[in-house]
Amino acid sequence: MSVFKQLSHLYHSKNEHFLFVDYNFYKKWKPLIKFIVFLNKDYISCLIFRKNYKLYKDIVIVGLKWNGRNVKRRTTGFAKDFLEETKNPRCIYCNKKLNETNATIDHIVPISKGGNNCQVNLVVVCIKCNNERGNMEFYKYLKLKNQTYKNQKNIFF
Ligand SMILES: [Zn+2]
Repeated sequence: MSVFKQLSHLYHSKNEHFLFVDYNFYKKWKPLIKFIVFLNKDYISCLIFRKNYKLYKDIVIVGLKWNGRNVKRRTTGFAKDFLEETKNPRCIYCNKKLNETNATIDHIVPISKGGNNCQVNLVVVCIKCNNERGNMEFYKYLKLKNQTYKNQKNIFF
């Protein structure tokens, strides 16, 4: 896809749950991407680095569909599926082993800041970290809790 087409897509999108670009594209056009997502009033700007999403590798989520205050908090099943599908499920923050009793869903961009329930905005974490983080910025809290990420700039997970 041409640069113009990709940028135009970010501007004209209305119905997708989130907007994303390839990491290399993001690196090259960072400020412009941010500005264009800002102009699209159906989305809120964000930065979420995902290693794998369906068929895509190394993508950056640059916008989340803005649903106002009507986001349903229904994320049932996500944590359960995660525990079943993951070999050694651990809290992304503190690295504690996760099980049915301590696993909870955390929103990377909190609902209170315009985040939604789409899968790219969800992580499964332990209940203790979830409560402690509150509304702190995701990557800030992640670096605070997990030494592995401390000096990394863009953290893909
Ligand atoms: Zn934890």
